[in-house]
Amino acid sequence: MTHPYLCPNCKTNRMRFNIIEQNASAVKLDPSSGEVVHHYEKDEPLDPFHLPYKGSKIMVQCAVCGVVGEEEMFIKRAENNPLK
Ligand SMILES: [Zn+2]
Repeated sequence: MTHPYLCPNCKTNRMRFNIIEQNASAVKLDPSSGEVVHHYEKDEPLDPFHLPYKGSKIMVQCAVCGVVGEEEMFIKRAENNPLK
């Protein structure tokens, strides 16, 4: 199901957006060099101290004013200000 968007910042844009897909990859770094020493595969279990990414799948950028936020913010703004 699709939802209309309205930018909560400039309050005029309903058409032009950049959808930012969040594709988190879990890595383990060498603490001194910052080098990636392990890159977890998608279904590989993380170590007990490593929290999995639980954030949004996508973020939205208004392509008119440039503000970036959760998709929910854009949907809510559109619901509260329907097109007449
Ligand atoms: Zn905007």
